[in-house]
Amino acid sequence: MPMNQTYSNPCIRCGRERIVSKTSKERVGNSVIVTTLTVCPDPACQKEVERENRRMRDKKLAMKRKSEERAEQRKATRDAVRAAKNA
Ligand SMILES: [Zn+2]
Repeated sequence: MPMNQTYSNPCIRCGRERIVSKTSKERVGNSVIVTTLTVCPDPACQKEVERENRRMRDKKLAMKRKSEERAEQRKATRDAVRAAKNA
């Protein structure tokens, strides 16, 4: 993929073309990874997008925690059954 390639990256809220706010280069082994951070040209809209992103992330984290809890419970039950068998 050529550098500085322009591609459509519309804002998920307002559909306006997002602008590059930050580009960072990171060397990983023999290759350089370029990370581009884009934001909505409308700061108010960008704030909303960030809030939404945070909400989604929290939701995902909560789901992850729940499934981990369930796994813990399953394990605890299994251990209890095993302990009962060995008793
Ligand atoms: Zn926007």
